Amino acid sequence: MVNQKELNNYCHDYLDVAAFEDYCPNGLQVEGVENISKIVSGVSANLALIERAIDEKADAIFVHHGIFWKNEGQTITGSKRRKVSLLLSHNINLFGYHLPLDAHPKIGNNVQLGKRLGIQNMSPVSGSLIWQGELNTNLSDFLALIEEKVHRKPQVFGRKFEKIQRIAWCTGAAQGFINDAIELSVDLYLSGEVSEQTPAAAEENNMTFISAGHHATERYGVKGLSKHLCEKFKLQHQYIEVENSV
Ligand SMILES: [Zn+2]
Repeated sequence: MVNQKELNNYCHDYLDVAAFEDYCPNGLQVEGVENISKIVSGVSANLALIERAIDEKADAIFVHHGIFWKNEGQTITGSKRRKVSLLLSHNINLFGYHLPLDAHPKIGNNVQLGKRLGIQNMSPVSGSLIWQGELNTNLSDFLALIEEKVHRKPQVFGRKFEKIQRIAWCTGAAQGFINDAIELSVDLYLSGEVSEQTPAAAEENNMTFISAGHHATERYGVKGLSKHLCEKFKLQHQYIEVENSV
């Protein structure tokens, strides 16, 4: 069991929250019960996850995408009201960690995805949110590995090199960072989502681009964080997958 404030302070330091400028609050977003022994984790604080957490009698929910999104109205209405109301009436704490959870060097989304995909010599690129590393594989084997590890068929665009040696990646909606990957002269850039202009940017700059799913690439940070907190504070934990094909 751990006190809610102690847990919030611990995560603030562990994830180096103060070092990030983000569009959403990172940390406790909705306050619930004071003492926490059971946590549930999921990618996003959607209604389905909150309902499942209530069924599981969770004291706290940990997510990567909290209830506050970029460019969203600042009112508690509609489905946001429903979510906040359920959390408050069941005394469940909601903790959300966005950029700090992408970037963390041990349990972050990027490093955890890189490990699953067998990427060697992984390192964050300074001045950017993307990571780089090395592979010794061919494109068809790598696509099959992605599908096996993240349970989603990846989409592939741009130049299709048979041999893949240098890779850059960033989980989620990081297709806009393709120019950072082009600067690094990697063979392949992987992110979660793809935009209309991304395939041409990859093709014209002699690079392969893979869209492996926003949700699919961001399950592992919150799982890693929850596992770490369980070991540290002797908590019970359950990851709940709410299917999302984007
Ligand atoms: Zn995301």
